Amino acid sequence: MTSIPSSRDKLLFTPGPLTTSLSVKQAMLHDAGSWDVEFNSTVANVRQKLLELGGVSRESGFEVILMQGSGTFGVESVISSVLPPNGKLLVLANGAYGERIAQMAMQLRIKHLVLRSAEDQTADLAELNRTLENDFEITNVAVVHCETTTGILNPIERIGPIIKAAGRVLIVDAMSSFGSVAIDMDAIGIDYLISSANKCVEGVPGFSFIFARRSLLLATEGFARTLSLDLLGQWKAFEKTAQFRYTPPTHAVLAFVQALKELDAEGGIAARGARYKRNHQVLIEGMERIGFKRFLPDAIQSCIITCFHFPKDPKFNFAEFYRLLSAKGMIIYPGKLTQVPTFRIGNIGRLFENDIRQLLSAIELSISEMNVTLAD
Ligand SMILES: *Cc1c(COP(=O)(O)O)cnc(C)c1O
Repeated sequence: MTSIPSSRDKLLFTPGPLTTSLSVKQAMLHDAGSWDVEFNSTVANVRQKLLELGGVSRESGFEVILMQGSGTFGVESVISSVLPPNGKLLVLANGAYGERIAQMAMQLRIKHLVLRSAEDQTADLAELNRTLENDFEITNVAVVHCETTTGILNPIERIGPIIKAAGRVLIVDAMSSFGSVAIDMDAIGIDYLISSANKCVEGVPGFSFIFARRSLLLATEGFARTLSLDLLGQWKAFEKTAQFRYTPPTHAVLAFVQALKELDAEGGIAARGARYKRNHQVLIEGMERIGFKRFLPDAIQSCIITCFHFPKDPKFNFAEFYRLLSAKGMIIYPGKLTQVPTFRIGNIGRLFENDIRQLLSAIELSISEMNVTLAD
């Protein structure tokens, strides 16, 4: 257990980049030309397939736009492109990714207001209602679905109708949930939803994708504050030339095609969600047995990533713990909380119950190697 088989990469118990299947990696062993009709029809198919996966269609008024870069680039594309020149963004934040959206607004000099809740709590909906009633300047509201900082699942199905009733535009960062959690965009009232190739769809990093309500997207002419992240500009290019505006992430797109096939073969979003739930269940039972305490209560905990408290024993040292696990072929994730020392274990990606069990044995062994006691 102390050395990694050279034929196999370390397992990534992280929320992206994540462990991908061999076939997804193999799909990248081709050079595709950006002007090539074959590649362009691949891109068109990917966009069509994403609409189906998202449970929406052009007929129901939705579009999908692919955007180069990691997930953050996709979020920044939306924030920088769809806020009217005098618009104001309300950000619901209970973790680092909500704060990142606020930081984008600040950097873009977009008027904004942050409604913060504690990292282990979802937004106060009465306060949200009051804020929207009292502040007529607010045009758009942004919320993170699964806040990957803790793994908390924010109740977008309750937040959406409030935003809609107040007549505002709703932007959802569903980066780490799309593909494993069912999201009814139309019923919730989502206007823009962002996710990326290397989260629950299990592709490789390289681009994000954005669902947009067409009527709203078309009304954003002239709003874009950057050239390369211009969402409407990118959509127009896809419609007119079937191409990305600038060099496409060709290999990542080829891998994504394979990843979509594998998602289908697994049984779609429900089946993938069920695998992650099983992974999560095995993880929390095992961690509890070893003596670790979780940060979040069950009711708001997603099956995407789980946040654990550091053991109280002063002999516990995260850097050392990480190193010992890494030497056993397992990569976990540091905490991102502002207040409490924690670490995180993701169970998305090409990971199965057996991988989680292997991780649990490695954790148990590493804890004993560090001579850490996990009693209260
Ligand atoms: C992963 C993630 C992002 C994007 O992060 P990148 O590192 O840019 O891919 C954004 N929001 C959430 C909630 C995420 O989990």
